[in-house]
Amino acid sequence: MSPSEIEDLSMPPTPPAEVMELISRSRSLGSEPGITNYGGGNTSCKVEMDDPVTGKRRRLLYVKGSGGDLGTLSVEGLAVLDLDRVLELNRLYVDEDHEGDLMELLEFCRFGPPGPAPSLDTAFHALIPAAHIDHTHPTSVTALATSAEGPELTRRCFGGQVGWVDWRRPGFTLARDLAELLRDRPELRGVVLGGHGLVSWGDSSTECEETTRWIISTAAEFISGLVGTASVGRVEVGGESTRARILELGPRLRGLCSADGHMVAEFRDDPQLMAFMASDRCADLVEAGTSCPDHLLRTRARPLLLPPVGERSEVPTRDELEAAAARYRDRYRSYYESLADPSSPEMRGADPRVVLVPEVGMWSFGPTAREASITADYFQQAVEIMTSADRLGGYEPISDLERFRIEYWDLEVAKLARRPPPPPMQGRVALVVGAASGIGRSVASMLVDAGAEVIVADLDQGRATEVAGELGSDGRRPLPLGVDLSDECSVREMVEAVVMARGGLDVVVNSAGVARADPLEETSTADWDLLSSVFSRGSFLVSREAARVMIDQGMAGHMVHVVSKNAVVAGPGNVAYSSAKASQLHLVRLLATELAPHGIRVNAVNPDAVVRGSGLFENEWGRARAAAHGVSLEDLPSFYAGRTLLGQEVLPEHVARAVRVLVDGTLPRTTGAFLPVDGGMPASFPR
Ligand SMILES: [Zn+2]
Repeated sequence: MSPSEIEDLSMPPTPPAEVMELISRSRSLGSEPGITNYGGGNTSCKVEMDDPVTGKRRRLLYVKGSGGDLGTLSVEGLAVLDLDRVLELNRLYVDEDHEGDLMELLEFCRFGPPGPAPSLDTAFHALIPAAHIDHTHPTSVTALATSAEGPELTRRCFGGQVGWVDWRRPGFTLARDLAELLRDRPELRGVVLGGHGLVSWGDSSTECEETTRWIISTAAEFISGLVGTASVGRVEVGGESTRARILELGPRLRGLCSADGHMVAEFRDDPQLMAFMASDRCADLVEAGTSCPDHLLRTRARPLLLPPVGERSEVPTRDELEAAAARYRDRYRSYYESLADPSSPEMRGADPRVVLVPEVGMWSFGPTAREASITADYFQQAVEIMTSADRLGGYEPISDLERFRIEYWDLEVAKLARRPPPPPMQGRVALVVGAASGIGRSVASMLVDAGAEVIVADLDQGRATEVAGELGSDGRRPLPLGVDLSDECSVREMVEAVVMARGGLDVVVNSAGVARADPLEETSTADWDLLSSVFSRGSFLVSREAARVMIDQGMAGHMVHVVSKNAVVAGPGNVAYSSAKASQLHLVRLLATELAPHGIRVNAVNPDAVVRGSGLFENEWGRARAAAHGVSLEDLPSFYAGRTLLGQEVLPEHVARAVRVLVDGTLPRTTGAFLPVDGGMPASFPR
């Protein structure tokens, strides 16, 4: 064998053209929420190719991996199986209770280098003979699938071109039902999966996608012909009183829905949702619960539905909310306990993922802002499905027993277990003030890396927006906000904007800075007022507004103020700055004592001489400090470093690391402290 042939062998075989068509079809279908929800559905193709080891012809099944998303599918997201081995595996079928054994043996049907775990729906992708197959959860078809008259409506809608199978969990039993139906009715172009969604196919990728789209649009036209498009009615939303209710309820609900772990919230009041909550069918449909397997895992079967605000035009009281959440959790626990057996996986929390407050709106929850948003999308699709099916003669979702079998199916649990462990600050909402440059930017970056939902706030809103863009990745992007700490309204609006966008607040880091240094006799009252309004009064305002939210949430919290060595070391020519910093440091101690009963830790970091990467030193202040010390601006970092015990320069990331340990749970018993980050300055040792 020649060296070049050996090199070829070490490479995985190039995917055939059909696989690239499968990818582009999947992305096209997955990008439309009406066709399939995020992370839901799966697609496949069957191809023949030469085995690079034996040279023999092999039939392969490329199928979407478990847990991926169709809209962003890539070749790496596909599992590759030897089709004939999967068909052999089908001959080992015993009954529905032994599905798990076959799914384990599926691992022995892989072809080529290891890839993702094959989708739980792989069995029907193998047993249906067509070359290209789509499985989707379209809103229109799922409405038929969950209708009490589903089989009859499907027949009327498609005139025999699309079949029906009753609800079954994914697996070989469902696949065998489908294969048998196709043996009897080879003319079928697709099948409605009762209680679930759609499977459709074609000999080519183009034919498959056309058929999938034809079935979805035909179902949509059929439904609107029978019951009309869902009318949203006349529902008043918005206005100042509604905003006040959202701000009042958001943190309380977030606290109550985070009993199992910190969650980020998203609030929505789309007309469709408001009309659903106002309708007299809302309570019954909520009680019936969602149906599609993916919905269960995202939204749970039922949301927490609170009573309407009604004529008293007051939001539910804290006691009422606590009682409602406790009832929800108790009910979920009894659902689990009544259906679990000793071999069942442990209960995965009992918090509601969706809360409906009629006349106000919907809160959805997730461990990240993106997940909270996906949960909201799922529930809105569920509302459309439930409402349509209800009007079609009755909504009939799968039973609680089937729900339990999906939610606590060991294969679904294994899918969750494959996820990487969550980062330490997942679910934490962290507001960083002064985050557009220097230490604040470095803190924001470090908290993003720690998994927090970060808000980049700064006086310079344009720069805050740029920094938020720079720090974002993988669909996560910090929220940029403008704020002027010397303006009480501006500070309040900033904290309100955080609550509106994320449901609450867990961490505040105040790194806002402004610098002035003059001898006493040249210090103007304007400068004195500016420095104390930013450092002293501004810190008070940020702390007060944040504390109100944190106390309301009942989820403890952290505050860190970036103070300065100057707060404890007296030196000449800096009276306004250092006095304001000393006031800020004492505020930290006062807040630590007052907020401790709420579990809120308040600490300070005291940096010194952070020159490089600092916003402050880039302007007149830097030149003034350099001139005062008789060195050039370029030599200022090494001049400051030379004054320290360690003799090393202090950079923004050194300060950011100190902030991080104070807020990421590393130092849970520390409050009222100040942590010097100054390279070692005996004059600023805590006394
Ligand atoms: Zn499905």
